[in-house]
Amino acid sequence: NWKGITLVGNVIDNSVGSGLGRSRRKSLSIVVPCYNEEDGIAELIRRCRQSASDIAGDDYEIVLVDDGSADGTWQAVSAETERGRNIVGIRLSRNFGHQVALTAGLSAATGELVLVIDADLQDPPELLSPMVEVMKREGADVVYGQRKTRAGESWFKMKSASIFYRLLKQASSLSIPVDAGDFRLMTSRVAQLIAQMPERDRFIRGMVASVGFKQVPFLYDRDRRFSGETKYPPSKMAHFAIDAFLSYSSTLLRLSSASAVLSLLAIVAVCLYSLYSWLYLEVVPGWCSLMISLLVVSFFQLASLSIISEYIGRIYLSTKNRPLFIVDQIKRSR
Ligand code: UDP
Ligand code: MG
Repeated sequence: NWKGITLVGNVIDNSVGSGLGRSRRKSLSIVVPCYNEEDGIAELIRRCRQSASDIAGDDYEIVLVDDGSADGTWQAVSAETERGRNIVGIRLSRNFGHQVALTAGLSAATGELVLVIDADLQDPPELLSPMVEVMKREGADVVYGQRKTRAGESWFKMKSASIFYRLLKQASSLSIPVDAGDFRLMTSRVAQLIAQMPERDRFIRGMVASVGFKQVPFLYDRDRRFSGETKYPPSKMAHFAIDAFLSYSSTLLRLSSASAVLSLLAIVAVCLYSLYSWLYLEVVPGWCSLMISLLVVSFFQLASLSIISEYIGRIYLSTKNRPLFIVDQIKRSR
């Protein structure tokens, strides 16, 4: 129940089955959003299979979400479902974007552990087993990949990403980790929570942070793309950054309150000066009253704008329908 009190924990484990035609549960799901990645699919599956079978034997699934690709990605995915076991292919009706494709994959995933990985093999699937180890050792619900280095990225991408993560961390009240993408291992309860959040402008890194539980970083070196080219040109990156800021901080709305406060100082100073010049200096008649009425009116405009934006900020957050709180465990005395 996402409207009011939400109990999650072991409770949710029994409720799995609401997603996209779930079958039997697996111990591991690997979720991969794919957009125009036809040349990489076979190699992706080969490497994912290897690391998956290391930790889960045959009890795993690889969920490939074709996000409305225009190339042969779907043909490659469906060929793989016919060729081998443990592959789930999902084709979206059009391009919905990376974060929505990821959500579709999460809602189909049945694994007790869920690994999210990009299709381009920039995040090495071989890190799965050390990540599982960290998760067990730390008793964490989320192990997120944090990039030490990034091979094959442009100077612009590295700089802009680095600034973006740090600004967002400053602006948001949540602790959204810096330099961490969507490459992460999570327990099924976290994956289910993310899949069930109904918000539309999805910034999954922030959504995962908002869920809580123990989340630990896993430092790694990010490889270059195996094939194809980035699906995040600067325009999409900007869109992504705007989604993140609007969804995870009210800083932009607060700017109008800040400007009202700042302008108050200037307004008082100019009002005092015009009074002074009306009394002691020779100025054009009417200047003083004109200045003062103008400034007072514009102050009230700024002030009311900032009040309105505080309300809009709250309305915006409540339309997201996020759970009010999430329970980790419940213990009862006998
Ligand atoms: N992707 C997607 N839909 C999109 C854009 C990207 O599913 O509209 C997938 C893409 O296939 C890849 C992942 O999201 O698996 C990350 O994209 P990309 O590697 O191009 O981003 P970058 O690593 O350059 O930031
Ligand atoms: Mg990539």
